[in-house]
Amino acid sequence: MKKVIAIYGKGGIGKSSTASNIAAAAALSGKKVLIIGCDPKSDSSITLLGGKRIPTVLDLLKEKQTIAKEDVIFEGFGGVLCMEVGGPEPGVGCAGRGIIVAIETLKKIYPEFMDNDLIIYDVPGDVVCGGFVAPIKKGFVNEVYVLTSGEYMPLYAANNICRGFVRIGMDLGGVICNSRNADRERELVEEFSTKIGSRLIGYIPKDPIVQSCERDGYSVLEKAPDSDIAKVYKQLAVELMNNKTRVKAVPLDDEQLRNLSKKYSE
Ligand code: ADP
Ligand code: SF4
Ligand code: MG
Repeated sequence: MKKVIAIYGKGGIGKSSTASNIAAAAALSGKKVLIIGCDPKSDSSITLLGGKRIPTVLDLLKEKQTIAKEDVIFEGFGGVLCMEVGGPEPGVGCAGRGIIVAIETLKKIYPEFMDNDLIIYDVPGDVVCGGFVAPIKKGFVNEVYVLTSGEYMPLYAANNICRGFVRIGMDLGGVICNSRNADRERELVEEFSTKIGSRLIGYIPKDPIVQSCERDGYSVLEKAPDSDIAKVYKQLAVELMNNKTRVKAVPLDDEQLRNLSKKYSE
């Protein structure tokens, strides 16, 4: 079965950098990969394209009625295909609605897009509003992950996102920890994952190489391919490609989450 995944998590936790580095790692291992940037910031593919921004589907649709595959799908590092949905004018329209319009457009201009081995939807923010889960509700995504650190707010967001998944009947593929160097972080996120009925499928250390590569406009896999962090992303890509587990998450209540967080800060 083709992997069509989305990674949810608190804003700023590292969804886009994780998505782009995994995309690059999977492509280097011979997979056909498509990344669909769903954040109005349209920054999902920038590090796969040497720091260049590509035209977004929604921006082009404002200019002309029909667009072609070559207008919005660009080949980046390792052959990863990149598309950016774009967003409505700030304060106007619904970003979630825009995602649906863009994906319907993608189906028309690139009908065989599901032939890719891995499709990653890089979704915005932590708000599991109706809009941001649109790709799931519409049946575009068949596997979801939550990305969190061991800090309280990202964990809170991750837990809340799981509530949203339960609400819409979406099973969870697993939890990924993107470290912020919190106390005993791996153990904490491992226990969180187990408590919600899932498992920690990857641990990404905090590494300044991620940001320096990003600043230069590249993924770690392209700019620092021999680094330890590149190996982490490669391993995570393998774990994701092989992962078959799906669970109905059992989110914690507020007190359980607070107690868990306290336990690891003592
Ligand atoms: P999101 O998409 O969740 O909003 P981003 O992917 O844009 O978050 O990441 C936010 C910032 O954190 C970026 O500057 C990114 O380079 C940095 N970052 C993400 N993961 C790591 C990491 N493992 N180590 C160091 N910096 C990271
Ligand atoms: Fe934004 Fe979500 Fe509201 Fe749409 S439903 S306008 S995506 S917050
Ligand atoms: Mg992002």
